[in-house]
Amino acid sequence: MNLPPTGRTVDDLLAEVARLKEHDLPVRGGQVTAYVYDTGRAEVNDAATRAYLEMLEVNCLDPTAFPSVVEMERQVVGAVADLLGGGHGVFTSGGTESIMLAVKAARDRAARPRPNLVLPVTAHPAFHKAAHYLGVRVVAVPVDLETYKVRAGDVERAVDEDTIMVVASAPSYPQGVIDPVAEVAAVAAAAGVPCHVDACVGGWLLPWLREAGAAVPPFDLSVPGVTSISCDLHKFGYAPKGASVLLFADPAMRRAAYFASGAWPGYTVINATVQSSRSAGPLGGAWATLQSLGRDGYAELGRATLEATRRLRAGLAGIPGLRVLGRPESSLVAFAGDDVDVFVLADEARARGWFLQPQLSYAGIPANLHVTVTGVTLAGVEAMLKVIAESAGAARERGPVVLPDGLVELVAELDLAALDDAAFAELAASVGVDLRPGAGQPEMAVVNTVLDALPAPVREAVLVRFLSVVYAS
Ligand SMILES: *Cc1c(COP(=O)(O)O)cnc(C)c1O
Repeated sequence: MNLPPTGRTVDDLLAEVARLKEHDLPVRGGQVTAYVYDTGRAEVNDAATRAYLEMLEVNCLDPTAFPSVVEMERQVVGAVADLLGGGHGVFTSGGTESIMLAVKAARDRAARPRPNLVLPVTAHPAFHKAAHYLGVRVVAVPVDLETYKVRAGDVERAVDEDTIMVVASAPSYPQGVIDPVAEVAAVAAAAGVPCHVDACVGGWLLPWLREAGAAVPPFDLSVPGVTSISCDLHKFGYAPKGASVLLFADPAMRRAAYFASGAWPGYTVINATVQSSRSAGPLGGAWATLQSLGRDGYAELGRATLEATRRLRAGLAGIPGLRVLGRPESSLVAFAGDDVDVFVLADEARARGWFLQPQLSYAGIPANLHVTVTGVTLAGVEAMLKVIAESAGAARERGPVVLPDGLVELVAELDLAALDDAAFAELAASVGVDLRPGAGQPEMAVVNTVLDALPAPVREAVLVRFLSVVYAS
């Protein structure tokens, strides 16, 4: 029974929350180089937390009941529009929701019988998810394997009469490079197709990097042919999670993202987002973060981020056996190993208290590790490089993961439907992953090596099963 028979005190609850979080990665300090974004400034965090709590119980469901939501959203969306070439916006819960709504608007406006979405292979899976949810087919275009950018000519050839939207990323997450937005948007415009720029990670970063001296090509709504852009404030806006903005050049396109229903006898439903009842906490948190940092704050974070990225790239270039992929144009840096198994390196770094994000090989791009450099990274960049160098040395000594003979074939041919969760957990245990509650953090190199060897559809099936075992009751 998970519900206590009688209520518990706040102190008791908070003690348990602290215990539950014991094995979490730290969200502050810069030693986790993915998932979390840290300004390193406690007063910003304090402002966000307090405004979040203040708005926590306000419901975005009905803007006429809670005008604070409208005013705050206008201010937040307005700030993003000012930075990204204008437009008409929606505040959403994250990049995935922004992308979902952009695809929905494009689908509804185009009204094609067999709609498709043309995107580079480096585009975020949120587009595949949106396509899957919305009944749209994905047409993936390869990228140049030197620059990791899509070529506009390839996009042009992929577009057909059923294409509802073309995507470019600024930057794409895997290698942190910016697709040729102007060229891709021109190709889309010539075909009469909307072009969405996925600036989920870069929208609130690239302008500040540019101000700090980085060469950033135009990528926003001011570029002819760009019809919508997504920008996550819960990434380089440093807002608490649940904050993204989607901007449309054309207000009619924004209307196509909205949803209203009069088809029931209850309250009137009018939604700007996928969610209906929705806490205004994230909106309050994002608003307060923007107000607390201001232009100066973001400009300073931009300078620190750019400097940290330069040092990281230079430092990585000096570590034998490692190589940075492409020429990162933002503060996302991916590096592969030549005589170093990067999955082993990641486990070694983890044991030294640092999390580096593994990325599996895909579409001709080798397996690699991904670092998201944020404002707080600069203070620890030398320490990070030292850990990466030590971990690379240790990984070289340990040698690459050698899988038991036939394991990959066994997994590839598994009939997952015929396997119950217990049998799957047993299989996981055989490669060193203990899925039982409280088992702690496993070494991931073997798992990553197995996944890396599998085709994407098998990876997906295994991952879904993994999740269901993790949440098994
Ligand atoms: C993070 C990210 C997304 C998805 O955002 P969520 O907020 O995790 O839903 C989409 N595109 C890019 C480029 C991203 O970095």
